[in-house]
Amino acid sequence: MAAKQNYAEPSFLECGFGELEYKVITPEICCKCGTCEAFCPRIEHKESRPTLVEYDPLCGLCFAYCPRTFFNAAAIESRLFGRSKYHDETLGIFRNAMAVQSNKASKNVQDGGAVTALLVHALDKSIIDCAIVTDKDGDWRTIPKLAQNAEEVISAAGTKYTISNNVIAVKEALEKGYNKIGFVGTPCQIQALRKVQLLDEPYELGQEKIVLLIGLFCMENFDYDELMEGLIKGIFGLSPKEIERFEIKKGMFRVIDKDSEVHEIKLEETDKFTFVGCGPCFDFSSELADISVGSVGSPDDWSTVLVRTEAGEKLYNSAINAGTIKESALTEKGLALTYKLVANKIKRFENCTKKFEERGTKLDLQR
Ligand SMILES: Cc1cc2nc3c(=O)[nH]c(=O)nc-3n(C[C@H](O)[C@H](O)[C@H](O)COP(=O)(O)OP(=O)(O)OC[C@H]3O[C@@H](n4cnc5c(N)ncnc54)[C@H](O)[C@@H]3O)c2cc1C
Repeated sequence: MAAKQNYAEPSFLECGFGELEYKVITPEICCKCGTCEAFCPRIEHKESRPTLVEYDPLCGLCFAYCPRTFFNAAAIESRLFGRSKYHDETLGIFRNAMAVQSNKASKNVQDGGAVTALLVHALDKSIIDCAIVTDKDGDWRTIPKLAQNAEEVISAAGTKYTISNNVIAVKEALEKGYNKIGFVGTPCQIQALRKVQLLDEPYELGQEKIVLLIGLFCMENFDYDELMEGLIKGIFGLSPKEIERFEIKKGMFRVIDKDSEVHEIKLEETDKFTFVGCGPCFDFSSELADISVGSVGSPDDWSTVLVRTEAGEKLYNSAINAGTIKESALTEKGLALTYKLVANKIKRFENCTKKFEERGTKLDLQR
């Protein structure tokens, strides 16, 4: 990782929660990553939104670290990879792209179990000393979780297709004294944590203790209440407690219930349940992660893995050499599908940006 340089424009540092509220929270472009809540003791999550509970005129940290206030991907890429991506690097900068499967079968993983296997291996080899993952309660409400051992990582495997303000658990990890924090999350959360790590800010928050970012591919996420009321109850006639697993496969949004019955609907018909804050996102493949993982591009029960940074490569090679994971080449057809999803996400982002501009708001999000 290259040394820090002046990246944030001084004017951003003069902005505070008022500007965050005006520019991000009120117009509903907040992605609820939890970053402002994690790093500012005066911001709490209340009534499902970041809320200022104590005024501080001097601090602009929430505005600076939010992935939606301003974002310059090329500047962060230069810092992280030593260069910005070329026009044809559709999936961002990476060193290696493979289909991957965990060698340890675990029933609740989503695809090839690559994420869980890599995190468990990283804990085992002391590359990390804890991992932030997404757990769930009995009603599939997401819970940002500080996993302190392999069992806790394994029990949080599997995709929950609803928003989780995971960065908040980084605060807990820092407070508990962890020094090598691993994190898995969606592209917006990875963007936020790269801002925390790489912006030239005066704040000493323990940024250097975040040592591994595993990013998920993500076309969109869903709002819990909309999804459960509108789709699960309204269309499938199920309660959250009856759900065993969610899947998005071959253009279908699928729910497998506890009696193994499959309920499905065309993915495009779920658009109305998409979380509104996902609109202004252009990043499908978590381009700023150390390692990115998704399902598209690989056969069933395998994960598509992009190894991006030196830290990511060290972990990946160590896991391959130890026999924790196995790899296989991606096919041209698989990669083409992935490129298609990237293009779809960028198109949605551009449409969203245009809508904001028509309403007189210019989003400062540069891909
Ligand atoms: C909201 C969302 C949308 C996605 N959309 C796509 C897509 O369009 N195309 C695609 O190819 N892949 C998508 N994925 C990724 C895919 O569902 C799998 O997570 C990925 O393939 C890894 O599989 P695995 O078996 O290696 O992971 P596992 O070993 O099962 O581990 C999954 C990890 O993801 C974490 N996690 C689960 N839910 C969330 C969440 N809501 N937020 C943050 N972290 C979470 C878990 O804690 C766990 O550590 C999406 C994931 C999410 C969360």
